[in-house]
Amino acid sequence: MNIQDDILSIKGIGKKTQSLFHRLNIYNIGDLITHYPRAYIRHSKIKTLAEANIDENIGLAGTVQRTESFCSKRGLVIVNAYVADRDNRIFVCSWFNSPYMKNSLRNVGERVFSGRLTEQNGRLSLQQPYVYRVSEYERLIKNLSPIYPLTSGLSNKVLENSIISAISQLDMRESFKEYLTDDIISRNSLMPRYEAYEFIHFPKDYNHLEAIRRRLVFDEFFIFLIKLSVLKKGKVKQINTKKMPLNKLALRVKKALPFDLTKGQRDSLNEIYKDLNSNLPMNRLLQGDVGSGKTIVALLSMLLAYENGYQSTLMAPTEVLAVQHFDFITQMIRDNNLECKAVLLTGNMKSAEKKSAYRLIETGEADLIIGTHALIQEKLLFNNLGLVITDEQHRFGVRQRLQLAEKSECVHTLVMSATPIPRTLAIILYGELDISVIKELPKDRVPIKNAILDETHRMTTYKFMVQQINQGRQCYIVCPMIDESMDIDLHNVVSETAALKSILPKNIRIEMLHGDMKAEDKNNIMQAFKLGKIDILVSTTVIEVGVNVPNATVMLIENADRFGLAQLHQLRGRVGRGAQQSYAMFMSSSDSEMAKKRLFVLKESNDGFYIAQQDLELRGPGELFGIRQSGSLNFKLADIFSDKNLLDAASKEVKNLEKNSPDILDEIIETLGGVEENTGL
Ligand code: ADP
Ligand code: MG
Repeated sequence: MNIQDDILSIKGIGKKTQSLFHRLNIYNIGDLITHYPRAYIRHSKIKTLAEANIDENIGLAGTVQRTESFCSKRGLVIVNAYVADRDNRIFVCSWFNSPYMKNSLRNVGERVFSGRLTEQNGRLSLQQPYVYRVSEYERLIKNLSPIYPLTSGLSNKVLENSIISAISQLDMRESFKEYLTDDIISRNSLMPRYEAYEFIHFPKDYNHLEAIRRRLVFDEFFIFLIKLSVLKKGKVKQINTKKMPLNKLALRVKKALPFDLTKGQRDSLNEIYKDLNSNLPMNRLLQGDVGSGKTIVALLSMLLAYENGYQSTLMAPTEVLAVQHFDFITQMIRDNNLECKAVLLTGNMKSAEKKSAYRLIETGEADLIIGTHALIQEKLLFNNLGLVITDEQHRFGVRQRLQLAEKSECVHTLVMSATPIPRTLAIILYGELDISVIKELPKDRVPIKNAILDETHRMTTYKFMVQQINQGRQCYIVCPMIDESMDIDLHNVVSETAALKSILPKNIRIEMLHGDMKAEDKNNIMQAFKLGKIDILVSTTVIEVGVNVPNATVMLIENADRFGLAQLHQLRGRVGRGAQQSYAMFMSSSDSEMAKKRLFVLKESNDGFYIAQQDLELRGPGELFGIRQSGSLNFKLADIFSDKNLLDAASKEVKNLEKNSPDILDEIIETLGGVEENTGL
């Protein structure tokens, strides 16, 4: 037998079963072997009733005394078997819709009945137990038993037996030939490849399983990275034709800032300045928690580009944020009496405004260009673009970032994100990327105080907000919905604004902000809030990322259980951006334990990295990092987050081979049967 063979070549699999296997994407023997269990159970040793506990998963040995079958009210055939255990005590086994059980258990001698022991009407019983020969069961308890992902009509037992049959007929060593060098195997404590493929189905115990998984996960990463390496090989490294030596202007503006940069900001900026003047174009990720001050680093980088005669552009995921960046830059230009020209471009601008922006950008009159997705419009032509920056990178697709970079030859790229990403993963997602990290928040910050609240706290919460407002501070209230909805009973911006206006003192200025509003209205509201002309801003998550109003000290989030943890952390990051004590309040009336646990994580910590990790633990990896969009990271076993160490290890080995033993790399690729171009990367 061969791993390419059709599953029909396994005894017992006919056309009908074959089509069931197809539904699980199992076509050949190789597919079958790599259909990994989703869980395992450990069978108990053979017991008697005297040794058993109710609710225990158990293997009871016994001899069938008599069987009966009858029809239930709902028309199900039920078979009961009365079984005497080794002490001659009786228990009952029941099966539904398996009429053949009635006769198949007659006069067969002792069997082991495996299932969960329950007590019903004073009778000890097993529902739908599996039945094994004693010798068969004894073999079974030596290993963990696999539980497979199934499809209806295909039982676990059929899958298990097919896999046993395939493994026993295959030459496993030949079919899963070792391709790693002894060095790599021993350095990473890996078990032989064939052993992992065989025993993933029947591991001896959980330690064994861990070692098996280690090998298979390592292989998944290793092979993925090798494919990546092959793909990259063809591409020539660009050289930096847009060198930007350090000059006076950026330094002068830096000196004139009203605050000292933190160490993280200084280091990041130095790394960026070095990149811009080095032999290769910059390709860097700037990572720093919400409020760590990434914007100023971006702007000082843009100024260096300007000084050297290049355009630079900053793309933000929302209009509100783009406008904010634009205002900040304009202010800085004014404060420092700079000659350079900043231009804003967003999709919602009036067409005359857009036209004028296009013209300024094309002619090169515009130096610093700030905008949204509108920047990647094909029609838009830049003039000597040298530096491209994306803010809140995790909000964009990989493709969008590349599209912006393609606006010019040999452009320098900086991507910024508050979402922590393991280094190796960042490389996979963003290509050959260097990383700068801003670890600390500016000195003057006071840690945000967090509270989890329910409806009983509503009035005291409002009272507290009014107190803060009377001290000159401002507040955000975030609701999951814009308007009332027939179907879902959630807080919405429109009703909440109206309600607050009637409840709170008349002097409190309350306005709303949401995505359905006209761009102009949105901007006006945001400006007014910035200028302190609004006390409470009731908003949807349009303010989630980036918005910076340091005087705001209260963030109240309604139906907090409806948001993701990372999202709540971002929202909370809208306060605590100045020297004042700030407060984040998570309002939720959900009774769900999971919801409580998740909110507690936020209450416990203000650290974005910790929260991201907890989020993963509480819900498994997923949308959080916007990974799914890349579509190429669907590993069978490997988890890019929890198996991060193995990812790093595999990456190190591949790099090492690339650098020191390219011939071994070629050999490995050959053993693996080549690496096709269309690997989905
Ligand atoms: P983020 O990293 O979340 O994008 P921002 O760049 O919006 O953070 O900065 C948050 C606030 O902190 C802004 O008001 C900014 O002016 C201010 N800020 C930035 N760096 C410093 C610093 N070194 N000291 C004090 N305040 C700073
Ligand atoms: Mg920001």
